[in-house]
Amino acid sequence: MEHLYPEFVLAEGLIQANLLQEIDAPRIKERAPNGAVLISCGDRDRFKHHFTGCNGIVDVHPICLNGGGVLLGDHVDPVRRKVLLEDCVEAFDVKGLSFVLDLAHFPCGKCTKLGYGFRETVVRTLEGKAFLKRSIPAERLKGVLPLISIDWRNAHIKQEHGVKLYAAHLQNLEAIASFELSESGIALPASRQDRHHRHPVESRA
Ligand SMILES: [Zn+2]
Repeated sequence: MEHLYPEFVLAEGLIQANLLQEIDAPRIKERAPNGAVLISCGDRDRFKHHFTGCNGIVDVHPICLNGGGVLLGDHVDPVRRKVLLEDCVEAFDVKGLSFVLDLAHFPCGKCTKLGYGFRETVVRTLEGKAFLKRSIPAERLKGVLPLISIDWRNAHIKQEHGVKLYAAHLQNLEAIASFELSESGIALPASRQDRHHRHPVESRA
């Protein structure tokens, strides 16, 4: 995992810059009272964290393909993107849903295979939200929330460990795509780091 250290540093920088945020669970409950479709990678070492983290907020209907949310991004995999869209709309029909939790995770074997680091993983997932919004009629789609799951275990960057879920927002796509760490890296006051890490949803798995 040594080679992933700079990626985790970038992730930490994005969190500290508030470009990855705590999940607003009450807002999701309000917007998705019937539950939500969860698009996720099926990674056996992390899926239970993704499922319990999301299902602890609202009942979820999982749709899993390797890579999850990144597959909905532009120019990633048109075939799987179409399949995910069709399955999502079908789940809306059969389960009476209208909200999507569009989740990608890091580290992800599929993303590595695609050549994506942390930044690309987030950007592709945000593009996925835009794709769903332009592909599903507005009256059928109440909302899409892109989620980024980070497995901090073995990251050697944080005192605490575990798999944590963060919300990303489409309006921050450009800021994330062009984000640069300052020369001082992630050296923010400890109190600020604490503030950013107390809130994100922790999996109960
Ligand atoms: Zn994965």
